[in-house]
Amino acid sequence: MLQTFDYPEFVYRPSPDLTADPPARHPLVVVGAGPVGLAAALDLADKGHRVLVLDDDHTVSVGSRAICWSKRTLEICDRLGLGEALLKNGVGWKRGRVFFQEKEVYSFDLAPEGGARMPAFINLQQYHFELAAVQAADAHPRIELRWRHKVIGLEPGDGRGPVRLSVETPDGAYALDAEWALACDGAKSPTRKMLGLDFAGQVFQDRFLIADVVMKAAFPTERWFWFDPPFNPGQSALLHKQADDVWRIDLQLGWDADPEQEKKPEKVIPRLKAMLGEDADFELEWVSVYTFQCRRLARFRHGRVLFVGDSAHQVSPFGARGGNGGIQDADNLCWKLDLVLRGGAPERLLDSYDVERGLATDENILNSTRSTDFITPKSEVSRDFRDAVLALSERFEFARRLVNSGRLSVPAVLDGSPLNTPDEPGARWPDAARPGAACPDAPIAEAAGASWLLQALAAPLVARSGFVLLAAPAADDPDGAALDAVCADQTPPVTPLLLGRDVQDCDGLVAARYGLRAGGAYLIRPDQHVAARFARVDRARLAAALARAVGQAADA
Ligand SMILES: Cc1cc2nc3c(=O)[nH]c(=O)nc-3n(C[C@H](O)[C@H](O)[C@H](O)COP(=O)(O)OP(=O)(O)OC[C@H]3O[C@@H](n4cnc5c(N)ncnc54)[C@H](O)[C@@H]3O)c2cc1C
Repeated sequence: MLQTFDYPEFVYRPSPDLTADPPARHPLVVVGAGPVGLAAALDLADKGHRVLVLDDDHTVSVGSRAICWSKRTLEICDRLGLGEALLKNGVGWKRGRVFFQEKEVYSFDLAPEGGARMPAFINLQQYHFELAAVQAADAHPRIELRWRHKVIGLEPGDGRGPVRLSVETPDGAYALDAEWALACDGAKSPTRKMLGLDFAGQVFQDRFLIADVVMKAAFPTERWFWFDPPFNPGQSALLHKQADDVWRIDLQLGWDADPEQEKKPEKVIPRLKAMLGEDADFELEWVSVYTFQCRRLARFRHGRVLFVGDSAHQVSPFGARGGNGGIQDADNLCWKLDLVLRGGAPERLLDSYDVERGLATDENILNSTRSTDFITPKSEVSRDFRDAVLALSERFEFARRLVNSGRLSVPAVLDGSPLNTPDEPGARWPDAARPGAACPDAPIAEAAGASWLLQALAAPLVARSGFVLLAAPAADDPDGAALDAVCADQTPPVTPLLLGRDVQDCDGLVAARYGLRAGGAYLIRPDQHVAARFARVDRARLAAALARAVGQAADA
């Protein structure tokens, strides 16, 4: 096997907490330094909090795991300071091609509209992603990373006091207390087991060979998906380019395949040659055989223990919803935890994390299950239907909408969230920017280091504000003095962002994507989701929407 990546070995350091009596107390403890735990730590630390991260291991993710990082994840990571590193190393792509048996039936473009800083997707091995996040966390003055610190016990307390964690290290075990604990310890989540929680769902009876191979190849940087190809008859196949000339190949094997046999190079290499050509010049980097599952916890909040990422839910990789969904969990949780910790919102705001990410999880599981069912039909009738759809998709648009080779991760619109203020009756606004939606990006003329709207929306976070009122100037308030007065002294603070004054809508795409007419305004949450929008805003309406967005409305 040829390794393209030099796995770092992070240094274990004995902690002074080992001998602390009584146990040391930390405001925020993150269990698990995977992509989700690291994203949460960076977000909370950026918001001014001290964060302790415990990980049982001392390196990054080993083997074939996530490669596709979605636009929304990249936008969040950009706010966390990782955007440049991910873009620099990742392979950007937006086009997918679908093949049925011998021929291509159609292709699709995931970002036809353009006008956003981030591409539809980048492909980047999870170890690269994690390394960039570890480096950022290491450099952060408010994050302490403790490697080879395995959490072996967790007592949740009464939900009002601290959580007690027992930690095992090469120098012995110790206890520590956390005001809040984020369980980001992955799909097998020991902390979930420590709380005796059920992880219910479906295991798919199929096996997939995942091979990461190193090769110089002229295939374009696109996602290629085959149904029933001649080189893997009756099954599916997927090809994706990653960084460092590594390619991800995913071959469906069927339930009867023997995982141990199928991993052997003498079995793998002929399969890959059948796909890539007899003369293809490649070397294996990683080979694994997976089965996939879709499962979730019933609730993500258990008092002061919050489950985030794979510890809370698990999906099949079709659609790239696991890591991307987890990063969006962290994005949703951290601003709420920040406000609660600063006394700016009641603790019940954290229940909305469970509601909002529960909705998103159900959507991810539904999509992931549908993809898996379409890719691996469970009956002859389902297979006949699927093959008919694929055959029709070459010529008919309606059939393409029924093809499901993995509906790729898009941010969940938090429809129905108690934090949303519904639109005023009769108001006409773009659906894509409705309350609950993640804000669409758009180019702006360079202003204070921002040349994209999402960067400008995130900038106030640095000033520890968080909420933004994005507005178009009213005819009777061209310089925004009245708008500033509307925002002044709101709790939590709101930063006005006026088109034409604070940001220049150089291509008119901000006004177009948000449907902003003179005097119109959007209240935007710290995670850049829309909380409310107003044809005309005043102090009372803004205050009411703000109260709702932080869980203070009577029915929230
Ligand atoms: C083949 C495959 C392909 C995939 N492709 C994609 C994709 O393209 N896009 C995508 O978004 N997702 C993909 N995923 C899913 C993605 O890998 C996961 O969703 C992601 O790793 C979840 O991140 P996490 O931080 O929640 O958990 P993990 O990455 O599992 O991290 C958990 C961390 O917790 C640590 N830990 C565990 N137990 C303890 C303990 N007791 N004490 C302290 N630390 C502990 C672990 O060492 C680890 O560092 C794929 C998964 C697979 C298997």
